[in-house]
Amino acid sequence: MEKNIFEKIRDEEEKADIVYRDDYITAFKDIDPNAPVHILIIPNKTIASLNDIQEEDSSYLSNILLGAKKIAKQFNIDKTGYRLITNCGSDGGQEVPYLHFHLVGGLKLGKMISLSKTEKKRFNEYKSL
Ligand code: AMP
Repeated sequence: MEKNIFEKIRDEEEKADIVYRDDYITAFKDIDPNAPVHILIIPNKTIASLNDIQEEDSSYLSNILLGAKKIAKQFNIDKTGYRLITNCGSDGGQEVPYLHFHLVGGLKLGKMISLSKTEKKRFNEYKSL
């Protein structure tokens, strides 16, 4: 099966601005950043999404969190704060089918969830059921 873009970046078959790598994780700059600091952190093992993690993946998962802390310090946003996000599936807005965490910071990030008018209407209808 053809590798997806993050598998290719992990295997250095596709260029990316890699900012951190260890035995468990690879981190690189998002190609279309939404904040001054926007880094993607992936496990060095192919896992499609949060839905697909297994008990045996725990070292990868803990190292993603430990890596996020290190990278936040590396980019000087540890003191000002940041957000770590993973999108899962269609409603979560996941585009690339490889587990990844967005580390974003460098400005005030605002509301955690921003719904479109249509989705807000759907949510209000759902609440009134
Ligand atoms: P998500 O919507 O959570 O699946 O996020 C996928 C992210 O991958 C988006 O923010 C894209 O900008 C980013 N992205 C896609 N292709 C690349 C690439 N070649 N290098 C770096 N980031 C990428």
